[in-house]
Amino acid sequence: MVKNEELPFRAPLDFEAACHSESDGQGHWFVFCGDKLAVELGPPERPSDDPRFRARPAWARLALQKNHNRLRSEAQRTLYLGRLQGVDCWAAEMAAGAAAPQGATWEGLRPLFSVLDDDHFALAGRAFQLLQWDRDHQFCGRCGARTEPKKEERVRVCPACRLSAYPRVAPAVMALVKREKQILLARSPHFPPGMYSALAGFVEPGETLEQCLAREVAEEVGVRIAKPRYFASQSWPFPHSLMIAFVCEYAGGELKAQEAEIEEVNWFDLLHLPKLPSKISIARKLIDAVCQEMEEQT
Ligand SMILES: [Zn+2]
Repeated sequence: MVKNEELPFRAPLDFEAACHSESDGQGHWFVFCGDKLAVELGPPERPSDDPRFRARPAWARLALQKNHNRLRSEAQRTLYLGRLQGVDCWAAEMAAGAAAPQGATWEGLRPLFSVLDDDHFALAGRAFQLLQWDRDHQFCGRCGARTEPKKEERVRVCPACRLSAYPRVAPAVMALVKREKQILLARSPHFPPGMYSALAGFVEPGETLEQCLAREVAEEVGVRIAKPRYFASQSWPFPHSLMIAFVCEYAGGELKAQEAEIEEVNWFDLLHLPKLPSKISIARKLIDAVCQEMEEQT
C-alpha cells in the first residue's frame, strides 16, 4: 500500500508554518491571479496523463524569489505562509486581468504537478487555499462587521461580536469497492470524456467516515459495502478538501446510478480498465495500489 508522504500536496517536511513576519518580503512568492500561479515556464514538451492538458511544460519554477515591493503594492492581499528550509514564503493575490510579473506566465496548478518542485507545488496549494479563505472572510458572517487578522494564529476575528473565522477544511471520503477480481468505477458528468474513478463525497455534520462511506456508495450507485480499510489521505486545494480514501468490499445490491451525480457506473476487470484520473490524485494512487494488490493475490 502506498505511503501517505508520496502524495502530492503533502506539507514539506522542512516547512515551518507561521502567519506573521516583520521581514521585508524576501523569499519565495506564490503569486496567484484567480486560480493561476505566476511561474517561469519551459516549452510545452512533456506528455500529460491528464486528458484536460495535451502537454506539460518541460520545467517550471517560481518566478519571484527576492524582494518585491512593486508586487506587494499592487496585490489585493498578501499573506505570510512560514519558512521553507529557513526561507520566508509569501502568498499574494493579484486583481483579475493583472499582467503576470516580468518573465512569468499564469499557469493552473494541475499542469504544474511534477513539473514544479514538489515542495513549492505543495505550498502553492496551501497558498491558494489561504488566499481564498482570507478573501471570503473579510467581513463577519454573523454581524457583518469588518474582521481583523491575528498575529499569533491563522484566524480572522470580528471585533464587534468576537466570532472567529479559521481556514476551513472540508473532509470527503473516497471509496474503491472490490468484488472478486473487479473494481467499481463511476463517471461523473463533470469528468473528461471516457474517464472513470472511485466514488467520493463530502462528510455530513454528525457522520463518521464509515457512515459517510456507506451512505455515499448506497446513494450514488445503490450497493452495500463492508470492511472499509483506510488507505491514505490527501489535501486537495480545489477549493479546500481533505480526501480520505478507503478500500471496501462489496456486500450486496444491484448497480443503480444516481441521476445527476453519476453518468455511468460499472464493475471493471483488472485487465480492462477504462481511462483513469491523473497521477496527481489520490484516486489514481488508490486504484493503482488496489489493482497491484489484486494481481499479487492471483
Ligand atoms: Zn461579528
